Amino acid sequence: MTDTLETIYREALDELRPVFHDMEGISLYNTEKVLKAFRKHALSAFHFAPSNGYGYGDPGREKLEEIWADVFGAEAALVRPQFVSGTHALATVLLALTDPGDTLLSAVGAPYDTMQSVIGISGDAPHSLAKRGVLYKEAPLRGDTYDLDAIRGAVDEKTSLVLIQRSRGYMDRKALFPEDIRAIIAAVKEKNPRAVCFVDNCYGEFTCREEPIELGADITAGSLIKNAGGGMAPTGGYICGRADLVDRCAQELTAPGLGAEMGSYAASYRPFFQGLFMAPHITRQAVMGAEFASAVFTKLGFRVSPEPGHLRSDLITAIELDSEKNMCLFAEALQSWSPVDSNARPVPGPMPGYTDPILMAAGTFVQGSTIEISADGPVRPPYTMYLQGSLTFEHAVLAVLGAAEKILAERQK
Ligand SMILES: *Cc1c(COP(=O)(O)O)cnc(C)c1O
Repeated sequence: MTDTLETIYREALDELRPVFHDMEGISLYNTEKVLKAFRKHALSAFHFAPSNGYGYGDPGREKLEEIWADVFGAEAALVRPQFVSGTHALATVLLALTDPGDTLLSAVGAPYDTMQSVIGISGDAPHSLAKRGVLYKEAPLRGDTYDLDAIRGAVDEKTSLVLIQRSRGYMDRKALFPEDIRAIIAAVKEKNPRAVCFVDNCYGEFTCREEPIELGADITAGSLIKNAGGGMAPTGGYICGRADLVDRCAQELTAPGLGAEMGSYAASYRPFFQGLFMAPHITRQAVMGAEFASAVFTKLGFRVSPEPGHLRSDLITAIELDSEKNMCLFAEALQSWSPVDSNARPVPGPMPGYTDPILMAAGTFVQGSTIEISADGPVRPPYTMYLQGSLTFEHAVLAVLGAAEKILAERQK
């Protein structure tokens, strides 16, 4: 390490000490919450056993869902390897809980890219909500955050479902903290108490002390290859919330009449349980890594969002790197510090649904997992890289300093 880098590293760690202390408190709280549920439901080694066929009365699946519901303060949960991704779990909720003529409201501006295809505001998927006759409204952001007046103005008698996205996603806006989610839900319910409030919890689990259902949400969903899988779940997604709503989602996932009673898994359920056990700690590693990246790149003079020194409600850090060259150096460094595919060289390439070439760096144990370190961004001004994940803080330190080193060296040329 050069002297400059060594100084940056020490200063960053020093400045972040208070926020790291608070993050430790949150992780301790959430670990206790998870462990209490494991104890209450008497998890035992036989619950890890694989199952096959229809999966009637599968003890592993049932125990996982009981524990999950408890941890998230929900009446019921669907936690399934059959969800192919977070988008699949989220789409299941949207499809299950809307009928033709209903209105879906997105409460915090435009939703995540893949959700736009599900809703039918981008792309041309045959069974989007739009094609099935569901109307869509969006409460616009005010600056970089939500607008309670716009939300109140958008909710009416026809609003049956309200989508509240906790994470910033790839937008230039703030992630929602528990108090924000609580305020949005209160505003919706004040206008229409029957409107179902649905929180997209991707990247949010265990970053704070409270989860969406505890804040008044009716239903929430997310991915198992982000925070809640603790880096161990090999695939899958979850939905949890009010029992009647979760049941409708189960009927949508399997078949009308079948619901949650079926579904086997021929590998062990152990990684899902162990992943949930690890999730509060792993999420802390990731948010510490995010803070470290934020602090280091601020010191290098780049615009970073969110700024360092604060608690997080999601895992994403946006770093404006000012040039395509810097973006490539950043991606190359991150890739070379990955445990898998460290010899690959990321280059910008076209992606379906995007107008600009996308640059991605990821060398993960679980394909596409973003609780593991990864970064991506569209190659266009201001050349923003979105960084997320890290299973260990040490990995984040090495990858971030590796990227800083390359960019500093280029500057001195
Ligand atoms: C990741 C993410 C999704 C979709 O999850 P995939 O598992 O990538 O399909 C949806 N919403 C938000 C906010 C996300 O971060």
